[in-house]
Amino acid sequence: MGTVKFSEDAGLVHRDEKGVLRDNFSDHRVIIFSCSAYRSMCDSLYDQFQSGASIILYKMGEGYGRKLVKGVAKLELPQDELFEAFEKLSHLAGWGKITFKISSEKDIDTIAENSPFILRREGIGPFTCHFLAGVLGGGASEIFRSEYKAQEIRCAAKEAGVCRFRIIPRTK
Ligand SMILES: [Zn+2]
Repeated sequence: MGTVKFSEDAGLVHRDEKGVLRDNFSDHRVIIFSCSAYRSMCDSLYDQFQSGASIILYKMGEGYGRKLVKGVAKLELPQDELFEAFEKLSHLAGWGKITFKISSEKDIDTIAENSPFILRREGIGPFTCHFLAGVLGGGASEIFRSEYKAQEIRCAAKEAGVCRFRIIPRTK
């Protein structure tokens, strides 16, 4: 561990010759949108689909997580450093602080501090970070090249503190 080079100084984005915003690591085009815009998008989903919105958000996160790890994979880091890269990139991207505790490939304890993905809404249930859960599940699936899922087991939306997730293999 410790060879991942992402730092605050490196910055996250630059503009190309056409003025299009791109990230500094994969050169993919990026957009910036606010957390309140994210919550507004989630509100629309919940208004339309009620609890089904949780599944939609999870699936969106899953697709995002897979793509994110594929982008980082171009840096050709060893597997264990991919989790460290994920921690650093997510911090640079404004996701608060995500910490993985990998006791085995079968159970990865994940803590999210100051997460921007918390939703506060009546009737949403005790766990609200479905998008981030999807990112973690999709990301782990890509890192381990096997199907994983992430379950939120504690959410800062309902009790002060951190959000906590378990990333575990998806049973067939
Ligand atoms: Zn949460």
